[in-house]
Amino acid sequence: MPTRRASPIRQASPTRETSPTGPIRLAVRAALLAACLVLPAAGFAASSAGVAAPEHQASDRPAVAIAAEVAAAPEGGNRLIVVLSRPVEARAFVMERPDRAIVDLPEVNFQLPPEAGRKREGLVASYRYGLFAPGRSRIVIDLAQTATVARVATTTRPRDGATLLTIDLARSDREAFRRAAQPPEPARPAAASVQQAGDSRPLVIVDAGHGGIDPGAIAGTGVYEKDIVFGVAQGLVQRLEAGGRIRVQMTRDRDVFVPLNERVRIARDAKADLFVSIHADSISAAPQVRGATIYTGSEKATDAESARLADRENKADAAAGADQGDGPGDVADILQELTLRETRGFSARFAKGLFTRLSGVMEMSAKPHREAGFRVLRSPDVPSVLVELGYLSSKRDLDLLLSDEWRTNVTGQMAGAIEAFFASRLPPAVAARTADAPRIGRAAQISAGQGSAGQGSAGQGGPAPVSP
Ligand SMILES: [Zn+2]
Repeated sequence: MPTRRASPIRQASPTRETSPTGPIRLAVRAALLAACLVLPAAGFAASSAGVAAPEHQASDRPAVAIAAEVAAAPEGGNRLIVVLSRPVEARAFVMERPDRAIVDLPEVNFQLPPEAGRKREGLVASYRYGLFAPGRSRIVIDLAQTATVARVATTTRPRDGATLLTIDLARSDREAFRRAAQPPEPARPAAASVQQAGDSRPLVIVDAGHGGIDPGAIAGTGVYEKDIVFGVAQGLVQRLEAGGRIRVQMTRDRDVFVPLNERVRIARDAKADLFVSIHADSISAAPQVRGATIYTGSEKATDAESARLADRENKADAAAGADQGDGPGDVADILQELTLRETRGFSARFAKGLFTRLSGVMEMSAKPHREAGFRVLRSPDVPSVLVELGYLSSKRDLDLLLSDEWRTNVTGQMAGAIEAFFASRLPPAVAARTADAPRIGRAAQISAGQGSAGQGSAGQGGPAPVSP
């Protein structure tokens, strides 16, 4: 075993590596890697299923990850070993579609070589890592075949006090994997609970489409989309507030123009857990077309009609004379895109639940869940849907849209779908114990300095959007 003992821990910056030269890690990498590979199995302090507890309270400085390696596990399968400057609390679980194992950690300063995680090794196709939300890091292991987390453990390496975090993956069949796989949960950035101390309820942004100088679609009778959808949005807010389980914020609380990117920014700044945009459509050439459609975001539209609609809605800013530059909702880089994929899995799940509820009380269009590149559905980290309530060009739809009874039914079902979407959250006691529940968050803060720490994204690949 090599004897070099330069301390990466002492040298490492407590903050994320941003320097392209990354001076810290290389000197000791070989030694650490070699050391961790021969770690005796008996040295692991195995703990209960999937959770490794820290040996002492974490300091306020992030632990530094100085090496990582995939090796064969003693009992078959594979083992990911991460060498850390100090113990951390880790939680690992698997998710399906795509098949992956996720390791949730407190914030970790990853000082790994750029090539870390890129080599296929047994069950591990690749892995990525990075800051996932303020105070939270994540490692995402893409599985080459179905596997479950057999064990997560931390142990101290006697010769230098480094912490070895090991995640053992055991081969499993699809059925066992599916049983072990965790369902996706709604986004809930950790920072939200800090900033909203005392109110940990999920935050939903209700976005009434158009406003002010932009009326949106206009019915033959002269009724504006912006007024109809504002009424529905208000009704939804009232229902949610009456329920008391959800915090609500509107992107506009009066008849005012709000640029599309601003709507996205409001949701992201507020660290919202869900964004619901409400619109109504119009096709004057086809007055027989009616029904509601729920849209989730996608660069690729379900069909030409959806693409045209998204184009039309996306022109709202231009219609109002506002700048249409790239905004916070645009996918700036690959890291955000990875988070976006995960987020869109949650969006699709919510869309599905919403469809189930709405279809009981209102006319749905022939293809009630579609995807398209709506600008307001581009928050990388906030699950977002856009509901087109119906067609102002349809006399029957319009009558309903203007009916108080219809609005009461629809907003009631929308509120129910929102509450159900968040109902699967861990109860507070459990959440406190496993503060790293599988939740998605802001990957944008991941430092991706080229050639530096090789920090990657977490939150890779959420479940594929589901079409009803
Ligand atoms: Zn609209």
